[in-house]
Amino acid sequence: MQKTPAGILQMMKIKGLGPKKISVIWKELEVETIGELLYACEENRLCLFKGFGEKTQANIKEAISFYLSNQGSYLFSQIEEYTKVLTARLQSDFQDYSFLITGDFRRHAEVIHQLEWVTDVLIDKLETYFIHSAYEIEKKEDVLVARGTDNVTLTFYITTSEKLNSRLFETSGSPEFIEGWNTLFNVDTSKQVATEEEIFSNNKVQSIPPFLREKKDIIARAMSNDLPEVLQTSDIKGIIHSHSNWSDGSQGIEEMANAAIQKGLEYLVISDHSKSAFYANGLYPDRIKAQHLLIDELNEKYAPFRIFKSIESDILHDGSLDYDEATLSTFDLVIASVHANLKMPEAKATARLLQAIANPFTTILGHMTGRLLLSRNGYPVNFEAIIEACAKYQVVIELNANPRRLDMDWRWIPGAIDKGVLISIDPDAHAIGAFDDVRYGVLAAQKGGLTKQHNLSSFSLLQFNNFLAKQKNKRL
Ligand SMILES: [Zn+2]
Ligand SMILES: [Zn+2]
Repeated sequence: MQKTPAGILQMMKIKGLGPKKISVIWKELEVETIGELLYACEENRLCLFKGFGEKTQANIKEAISFYLSNQGSYLFSQIEEYTKVLTARLQSDFQDYSFLITGDFRRHAEVIHQLEWVTDVLIDKLETYFIHSAYEIEKKEDVLVARGTDNVTLTFYITTSEKLNSRLFETSGSPEFIEGWNTLFNVDTSKQVATEEEIFSNNKVQSIPPFLREKKDIIARAMSNDLPEVLQTSDIKGIIHSHSNWSDGSQGIEEMANAAIQKGLEYLVISDHSKSAFYANGLYPDRIKAQHLLIDELNEKYAPFRIFKSIESDILHDGSLDYDEATLSTFDLVIASVHANLKMPEAKATARLLQAIANPFTTILGHMTGRLLLSRNGYPVNFEAIIEACAKYQVVIELNANPRRLDMDWRWIPGAIDKGVLISIDPDAHAIGAFDDVRYGVLAAQKGGLTKQHNLSSFSLLQFNNFLAKQKNKRL
């Protein structure tokens, strides 16, 4: 018990996982938490081990999802549809009243611990409604909290119809934002406003969208009419960072290219795993050559659409990349990421990343901290030092759009933009369906005020080619 990580013990509670399988997961896959294991299932990692077929992997995945859904916190992507459906149901069951989603969900927080609404329905009516459906209820003054068997916490702020919009404003901003606002402006909650917008216009401030109401310094920017024109999903022009079935992805390169073309995208960056990622069938140089020949052929066939030759190179223990220079120079671009030996103190992690950033072949720093939301904290890094180095060596920082990663954290985007560092919203897709994850990356990046000018994956094909030409100069 003393030697076994808590996450491993927790795995014993997952249906279908016995000690034998858990031992393989722990010792060979180096996975130590349930969340990491779920991610490994999503990346098809389990299938590669003895005793784990595709069916076992699917069963484990389902059992974990069930287990985690009982823990009460959710990724934004997991709870989004549920929220829409529930809001619509409330709205149709209480037709004369309003239910306005507010709080963390309205701000597109990456992790949601409770869903919140502002409503003008009478509190007793709402209470009866939920008791009728066997929800647990907590009630204090004008707040009703309901929790059903699905273990999602639902919080309702009850107010009058006149005050709906001011209550919406108060509950939408983060505590820091609201405090900052209240010290600058008078919020008279008894005052009626027809729309939330009026609260801004009454104070002669540019209207701040909910997702930006996090840090109080955004208020000063709104006062000087200087809010960023944030990036939209429709601004994404290419898929950067994707895995084909040459490593651990589900589809072939041609199929992926066709899917990207169908979406109206201009290019696709194939970045399979490098050789050290043996568990993901990482590519050795002979297979890289073969893959590049195929990409050349496809590029002729599908022009002007373009497939770029890339690799997600492991950042090895000492910070070096996974191939010699001759091999590295065959790629159009290199994404450098840490996948193994994740347990490092800050000094070691930072030094390892700095070494990789200084490598002239590194184009993009992949998922900077290795975090998996709700399941694994990333290794600690000195963000300032990393951003500084990326500026110096013209390395782009990825915002990995997998809703479980969203790494680097959007909170560091303003600091990166200040230093002139480009961000790249990358889906890290292991299947075509995951191309759509870029939307979650965009939602997170919007919170950091990212504009399309500062996002590599919104470069047009022409701009992207120019960018790569400049990167090649680093290799001279
Ligand atoms: Zn990776
Ligand atoms: Zn990847």
